[in-house]
Amino acid sequence: MAEKNLEEKEIAVKNNFIHQQIQNDLLEGKNGKRVHTRFPPEPNGYLHIGHAKSICLNFGIAEKFGGKCNLRFDDTNPSKEETEYVDSIMEDVRWLGFDWDERLYYASDYFEQLYEFAVKLIKTGKAYIDDQDSETISAQKGTPTRPGTESPFRNRSEEENLDLFERMKAGEFDEGSRVLRAKIDMASPNMHMRDPNIYRIMKTPHHRTGDKWLIYPMYDFAHGQSDFWEGITHSICTLEFEVHRPLYDWFVDQLLENEYRPRQIEFARLNLTYTVMSKRKLLKLVRDNHVNGWDDPRMPTITGLRRRGYTPESIRNFADRIGVTKVDGMIDVSLLEYSVREHLNKVAQRVMGVLNPLKVVITNYPEGLEEEMDAINNPEDESMGKRKVSFSKVLYIERDDFMEDPPRKFFRLAPGREVRLRYAYFITCNAVIKNDIGEITELRCTYDPASKGGNSPDGRKVKGTLHWVSVKHAVKSEVRLYDRLFNNEDPLAKEEVDFKEFMNKDSLKILPECYVEPFVKGAAPLTHFQFERLGYFNVDLDSSDSKPVFNRTVPLRDTWAKFKNK
Ligand code: ATP
Ligand code: MG
Repeated sequence: MAEKNLEEKEIAVKNNFIHQQIQNDLLEGKNGKRVHTRFPPEPNGYLHIGHAKSICLNFGIAEKFGGKCNLRFDDTNPSKEETEYVDSIMEDVRWLGFDWDERLYYASDYFEQLYEFAVKLIKTGKAYIDDQDSETISAQKGTPTRPGTESPFRNRSEEENLDLFERMKAGEFDEGSRVLRAKIDMASPNMHMRDPNIYRIMKTPHHRTGDKWLIYPMYDFAHGQSDFWEGITHSICTLEFEVHRPLYDWFVDQLLENEYRPRQIEFARLNLTYTVMSKRKLLKLVRDNHVNGWDDPRMPTITGLRRRGYTPESIRNFADRIGVTKVDGMIDVSLLEYSVREHLNKVAQRVMGVLNPLKVVITNYPEGLEEEMDAINNPEDESMGKRKVSFSKVLYIERDDFMEDPPRKFFRLAPGREVRLRYAYFITCNAVIKNDIGEITELRCTYDPASKGGNSPDGRKVKGTLHWVSVKHAVKSEVRLYDRLFNNEDPLAKEEVDFKEFMNKDSLKILPECYVEPFVKGAAPLTHFQFERLGYFNVDLDSSDSKPVFNRTVPLRDTWAKFKNK
């Protein structure tokens, strides 16, 4: 046991280079040996599984190193942000099992401080107002190999800059007519250091500050400063911000008063096969009704995965498993499915449900008799105990479990063949009833009363064990089967093709008439079940007593078995 723990620990450090770096910072005694991270979503959409990786990383670091993690909304762009998103983000972080306690912040909390900081930069000759439009400014930026050109407004006097900035704030100028820029280095090999914009005019009301502000700080200007003011020690972000790091450090240098200093560390974002992850693209799917909202169970959003039946544990295990690296890559979605299967296997109540019903009449079973069969609730967890399942003369089995003329390797029910009904009896098929157009409508079978419980009375063997429900007792339910939202591993790979072209038209299949054993009656939304032999299902949010609805979370088939012993 001790050995196993050691091994697990090694894996945990090995596949997470950020843990190693933090460990080193602690050994060096940096920042008074404090560890403080933050998760900084922009409230412009619902969170997706990629954000879950970042949440697990940031809050996980706080847990691992006895530190803290803040939740901070990066709400510097009022045109795209809404309180609906703020609320959903808080719900999702909590659902994943993390808590920011009283440390809930908004970049907008710092608007006043940021404004003052900008004024300070102007006064120290490190910022200026540029009257040029954005096209001109970007044309002057140069290229990575050719230095930029200085703006004709770069050397304005401090008084003029202060006056213009004040008037920008007062709303005297039109949007886009002026910006405040940091005065750094137009010849820097890093384009982000070529006098980046730090304030822009935007006359859009903000979800928190209303119409108080008519100028807003740029993300780069707000982010590091927010980190600084919150005492963040490790500011973890995705790789595309690596080139912003010198700018992050430059701003921190202007703020520095003591030894404390936040440090930006970048890691590779999560990409998953068969889906897209940018909020902008997900918003498009929602707006254009390609899916039924942000919480459509086919969406890679946390709210979608929750509705689909994923558990917080399975998502956290997935995040641990994939680790944290500096190398961009694509993770196979079946690894995520493996993680959910692994967890649900341990916790899900087993029941029997028939998705595609075929009626079976047991001709020698007494009319009107009902028996209660003992069934195991979860073979992985004895403490979950047993339940009774009602058996009677007329049953449903899965249509796929019968073949009139079976090939050699088909071991389920066929004319003249005997199989076991799980927990019940051995039955033999004697007759196949068809309708006018030759479709099978019913099977006539006999049972062996001596095989009660599904046990062989005399050592004779049957090859197949089928699930079933009693027609009289079963709960008629709707079942929704989900498949991948896209039929291409990387829907964004071909720039010239719109990613929506790759949408899988069969990603949702609704089965209106399924039958499930009565145990599921009254189960609350999001309750997990394993339908034996079929997969994991959960009660949908739309489900009601009069119309139960189940989502298939994931089928039983396990394509990632090789991970099991890792
Ligand atoms: P998107 O591109 O999906 O809109 P974003 O990076 O703009 O995402 P933010 O709200 O700014 O979204 O992100 C909040 C945090 O989550 C950031 O620290 C960001 O780096 C991280 N994050 C976003 N997407 C991923 C991802 N796919 N994998 C890991 N972390 C991510
Ligand atoms: Mg963003």
